[in-house]
Amino acid sequence: MYPPAFEYWSPRSLDEALSKLQELGNDGRVLAGGQSLIPMMKLRLAAPANLVDINNLTDLAYVRADNGHLAIGALARHADVVDNADVKAISPTMASAAPWVADPLVRNRGTVAGSIAHCDPEGDWNSVMLAVGASVVASSSSGQRVIPIGEFVVDFFTNSLDEGEMVTEVRIPRPAGAAGGAYLKLERKIGDYATAAVATFLDLAGDGTITNAGIALTAVASKNLKVTEAEQLLIGQTPSDELFGEAAAIAARACDPESDVRGPAEYKRAVINAYTKRGLDQAFAQAKGGS
Ligand SMILES: Cc1cc2nc3c(=O)[nH]c(=O)nc-3n(C[C@H](O)[C@H](O)[C@H](O)COP(=O)(O)OP(=O)(O)OC[C@H]3O[C@@H](n4cnc5c(N)ncnc54)[C@H](O)[C@@H]3O)c2cc1C
Repeated sequence: MYPPAFEYWSPRSLDEALSKLQELGNDGRVLAGGQSLIPMMKLRLAAPANLVDINNLTDLAYVRADNGHLAIGALARHADVVDNADVKAISPTMASAAPWVADPLVRNRGTVAGSIAHCDPEGDWNSVMLAVGASVVASSSSGQRVIPIGEFVVDFFTNSLDEGEMVTEVRIPRPAGAAGGAYLKLERKIGDYATAAVATFLDLAGDGTITNAGIALTAVASKNLKVTEAEQLLIGQTPSDELFGEAAAIAARACDPESDVRGPAEYKRAVINAYTKRGLDQAFAQAKGGS
């Protein structure tokens, strides 16, 4: 099916893009990789009057280690973070997730920031970002603000950007100690969205105590779900099988999956339980330098 008619804008600079978005207000929509927006338009699930294509803003096509964090520019594609040395060094959770997002064709076009802005509860990146405590830089013609990811992801396909704002960068904090992380995703076939998936992150002090922990779930609620209660349980504790089992049980209780073509709700809940435990085991082994 063809998408509904729209006006197409192709700014040559960030300033130009931001003033166009300001001028268009609610009638304007950013076009990044187009891997979610164009299918939605073709299915008539979205009908923006104006598309502001940011693909000429090549200055935003970066992945780099900045002071204290990993910075992902708005035009960095999923493929740019696969096997990336800075990603591996700063965010094991992100490195683990990167090869699991979609398929190679989609990864070559789709952007990390676009996926985060899209807020699809079946999308992989927002679980990773919630687990690692990322933040989003929102820019508009009147300035910039930094939004913690937990405030950015509002609900089903809803973010907290204001009219005229776009995401220009995503920031992942550098862990303070020895860190490990994993993204475990059950999918029906390569390239599919998750049946259920879990992002885990652990940061350890020199004596092995957990100083920071992250657990977030994909495709089992109306948005990617940060399991704060399980994270709080872990912080300040010494890792153990029992502790990780308890955190996994909390995650399984916290989710609210629906039965659909990918499986019954109770099956997905069981997957969350098993994958949370396994993900914490893997994060711990990695933090200790065991894998
Ligand atoms: C076959 C297929 C399989 C897929 N499988 C997966 C999967 O397994 N896991 C997964 O996570 N995703 C999957 N996706 C989605 C894919 O990851 C998309 O790339 C991603 O969701 C959107 O990124 P994009 O750059 O393509 O954004 P677009 O499609 O261009 O935009 C998506 C939305 O985000 C907004 N947007 C984009 N960039 C910005 C910005 N910088 N600032 C503000 N708003 C912005 C747009 O206005 C639009 O509303 C799949 C897609 C396809 C087609």
